[in-house]
Amino acid sequence: MESPVVFPFVVAVDGPAGSGKSSVSKAVARRLDWGFLDTGAAYRAFAWHVEASGVGVDDEASVISCLESFAYRIGTDPAGYHVRVGETDVTHAIREPHISGIVSRVARVPEVRRHLIELFRAIMAAELRPGIVVEGRDITTVVAPDAPVRILLTASETVRMSRRAAELDDQDAVATGEQLRARDRADSKVVDFMTAAEGVTTVDSTDLDFDATVDAVIAVIDAVHAIGHTTAD
Ligand code: C5P
Repeated sequence: MESPVVFPFVVAVDGPAGSGKSSVSKAVARRLDWGFLDTGAAYRAFAWHVEASGVGVDDEASVISCLESFAYRIGTDPAGYHVRVGETDVTHAIREPHISGIVSRVARVPEVRRHLIELFRAIMAAELRPGIVVEGRDITTVVAPDAPVRILLTASETVRMSRRAAELDDQDAVATGEQLRARDRADSKVVDFMTAAEGVTTVDSTDLDFDATVDAVIAVIDAVHAIGHTTAD
């Protein structure tokens, strides 16, 4: 009989674009000295790989065939974050607005999702630190529905748009807002990341600054982690 896969303590974080889930999750992982997995990076890297392979992002059959050659590597060290496809470091390339504009079109393909979800579970299972913070659109509902801590990180649309515009100083706020809304619209046809599923705690960061949001997430983790460890410690 195969032995069951033992996962580290998993903190699953969902949320819409611009909610701060990536930077907040990374900061939480750093504070706890746990691993960090940015799942959006895999969809972005796959979109990059599809284009680098000369395939159109709407040619579904060819997009699926690119999965076979997708040699994806991402570190889970929150302090040494990097993303590679084969030998190419794509950490910065996948953040380009062009990739943000096309990523939803590959992320909606069911075969792509299945493939990447398996990859995420393998990365989580291989984590050697005691815990891992995993963030994306469908982590609390699809990727890690049994995680002991599941959080939906939200913020009002106005706040999300202004945070994103501040990150990208070479794009004007209107274009950024449009792109963000379009991406949320496309993504929400595939997963509902705007409402908390049962058992998921909502952290609304509309009125919180960055550090206060990190504190709020850690408070949610502490409440569960402390209970789970009272007998073991
Ligand atoms: O989180 P980030 O903005 O980097 O995600 C990029 C894109 O990857 C999203 O717009 C979505 O299309 C896709 N994605 C997804 N499921 C996830 C993470 C990201 O479909 N778990």
